[in-house]
Amino acid sequence: MSKCFRVAQLVVVVVGGCLVIKGFPILGICVSMMACWHRIFDVLLNRCAVVEKKSLSDEVSGFHKDCFIADLHADVCLWRRDLMRKNRRGHVDLPRLMEGNVALQFITIPTKLVISRRFPRAFFRDLFFWGAFMSLQHPSTWFSTSARVRLQLQRLKSWVARSEGVLRLVCSRSQLDELKDSRACNEESIGLMLGLEGAHVLRGSLDVPWLFEQGFRVVGITHFNDNQFGYSAHGSRRGGLTPAGRELVRELDSHSITIDLAHASASLIDDVLEMHGKGEIRRPLIVSHTGIRGVHDHRRNISDDHAVAIAATGGLIGISLFAPALPSADLVALGKSVSYTVKLLNQAGIDGARHVAIGSDFDGAVRTVIDASGWARITAELMHHAHGLSPEQVEWIVGANTRRFFSDNLPC
Ligand SMILES: [Zn+2]
Repeated sequence: MSKCFRVAQLVVVVVGGCLVIKGFPILGICVSMMACWHRIFDVLLNRCAVVEKKSLSDEVSGFHKDCFIADLHADVCLWRRDLMRKNRRGHVDLPRLMEGNVALQFITIPTKLVISRRFPRAFFRDLFFWGAFMSLQHPSTWFSTSARVRLQLQRLKSWVARSEGVLRLVCSRSQLDELKDSRACNEESIGLMLGLEGAHVLRGSLDVPWLFEQGFRVVGITHFNDNQFGYSAHGSRRGGLTPAGRELVRELDSHSITIDLAHASASLIDDVLEMHGKGEIRRPLIVSHTGIRGVHDHRRNISDDHAVAIAATGGLIGISLFAPALPSADLVALGKSVSYTVKLLNQAGIDGARHVAIGSDFDGAVRTVIDASGWARITAELMHHAHGLSPEQVEWIVGANTRRFFSDNLPC
């Protein structure tokens, strides 16, 4: 694959050069730039807020080192980046995960983002078409969402294979226990869990049993667009679940796949909660990466009532690391959002600190508060007395809650 990419890069540079020589300089330069668009997109879209470089106290560093750090959401497979070496662009790679003491990292696969209905053909409206085309990805991924899933899976599996046992795919409770034990013995190991962002890819041979077989354990019903199963928080209609969506929710639940309500419309969240209330589904629900309306009133964020209702199912609220999930992309805003959510749940009679987690949205084309190497700064911020969290509660929020949730909900 990488060899094919190098050949494609060479071809477009030669074609671009020929166009310049033939008297089409602008067109020639544009074509030549296709050889490096993947880097340009990555640098421009996956940025990081400037974090004060002041070193952390030994007490905080020591505490952080003993925590099981877990992140509910990152889109790292979307990018043509070598996860094995430290990159200066993007948010996640193996050296930075190790630097951040990350134990469990969700890798979530997004596949489609339709920007405008005014363009004549469906694939022209899809940003993922342009991303795949401009980044010289395999032509099958230009038009097909299922090919995009398979490509990202292929990238993930090649990273696991090349990591010599450091990266391991976690699909079951026993694998999660093994990960915990190996880290307790100071072995270098990081668990990766698979999630799907938007169920629109599910058709034909790509169905729920296939997802389960590949290791997906979390599925979001919608992403940025409405689909055959329901409506997105970003769409214009913002309806609920369709009849196919209700069937999908039941099927995911019966296959031990957790339902993620990030990006879902308020009506869709209501419908899933209603199904849960009626006992049609049993598994607790999560919102893998979100903000909370009580802190920042933005359509990307869930309402306070929904946060309470989702936590009441036994679920998790993953607070994200970028604005507009946060009122501003800084650590203080993150601390405020986390402590607000904990207090909100406490007031509703739920042990709030047991149901809040972090879902970074690293490499999700956002400017995050830190990159994966900076997790200790999150721990340090949450330990600040202004947030009113005990060290034990901080430990739960930065990862122990996520580990416990999947320990309770993964298949054996
Ligand atoms: Zn997202």
